[in-house]
Amino acid sequence: MQFNKIVGQKKVKESLIQTIKENRVSHAQLYVEQPGSGALPLAIAYSQYLCCENQSEIDSCGTCPSCLKYQKLEHPDLHCFYPVNTNPRNPKPPVFSKDFATEWREFVANSPYSSLFDWLKSLDIENKQGNISAKESQKIINSLTLKSFESPYKVCIIWMVEKLNVAAANKLLKVLEEPPEKTLFILTTENYESILPTIISRVQMVQLEKLNNNDIALALQNNYNVEPAVALNYAQLSEGNFAYALEMANMGHDEEELMDDFRAWMLLCFSRNVAGINNWVEDTSGIGRVRQINFLKYALSTFRKALLQNFSGLDVVPVLHHEKDFLLKFSKFVHEGNTIPLIDEFSLAIQHIERNVNAKIVFMDLSLKVLQLLIKKVPQVAK
Ligand SMILES: [Zn+2]
Repeated sequence: MQFNKIVGQKKVKESLIQTIKENRVSHAQLYVEQPGSGALPLAIAYSQYLCCENQSEIDSCGTCPSCLKYQKLEHPDLHCFYPVNTNPRNPKPPVFSKDFATEWREFVANSPYSSLFDWLKSLDIENKQGNISAKESQKIINSLTLKSFESPYKVCIIWMVEKLNVAAANKLLKVLEEPPEKTLFILTTENYESILPTIISRVQMVQLEKLNNNDIALALQNNYNVEPAVALNYAQLSEGNFAYALEMANMGHDEEELMDDFRAWMLLCFSRNVAGINNWVEDTSGIGRVRQINFLKYALSTFRKALLQNFSGLDVVPVLHHEKDFLLKFSKFVHEGNTIPLIDEFSLAIQHIERNVNAKIVFMDLSLKVLQLLIKKVPQVAK
């Protein structure tokens, strides 16, 4: 992974590169991100740059023996640890990161911005928790006592460090505080609040930026041949999560189709057409998880646009051409009395679909909530 493949994060990249040039690499770093901002690819790019035999001012070379091994995650001085659990291929505990090394390399090569849920799903265990156990901590410590084989640095990346249990974390405290010489720890997290304070006090924090729409759109155009207008649209829907934007680009994602479907659904809710809602729920529960999430995110963004349109008029709202008429009519039903509950219900539905709750139940429940909320009257201000 080279820096030039990292989406956005310009300032963070520059300051990380500076630490290497000025020879002040902090031996234990914690990359804090919002989901889909790229902590893992950045950790790999930074380590690859550190160990590159022919680094330029701004990037690793990508072709030296060290880079070639880094790009396949096969460098003997790079150790990756990540949450795991037993799966059909490794059914007996204890299981360790290295038991899933092949799956891990494939996952990072295809979707380094993806979530823990996606990782567990790729192991066929999305209904289980992924953990980093105390026994794994011992493996981490052991990996560092080996002499480095080829690089000046031994690198240990721990992805989703919030999944270290207390015993596992306690075991690591000493080595985080006083690691062997020329050892670099990079821990990454999406959930800073869940990390034990004893870990936090021993690491240097690197806060990643939330990805902006332009950076996401540019990456989709340059690296995945997505047309500019479409790329921007995916970027807006992804709300800073590059994994989502990429999923949309990979599967194609027709905006007009989404709007038509949304409009049809809202009409069914307005008219309290329960049989129609039943059919709609039946159809929608069969379209697959990613499409369902995209649809819900589209709906969420439409509610926001409708509300914004009520306050500020269409000119300031980024509305696609085909949405204008619909939004003008629809915005009359969205107001300060129902927007927050609507947004909460949709956010909850997205979480449930992400966690694989039965889609039929989620969409039926949501339809009934929407039905009630949309007929709510605008609250009257007391005079
Ligand atoms: Zn190189």
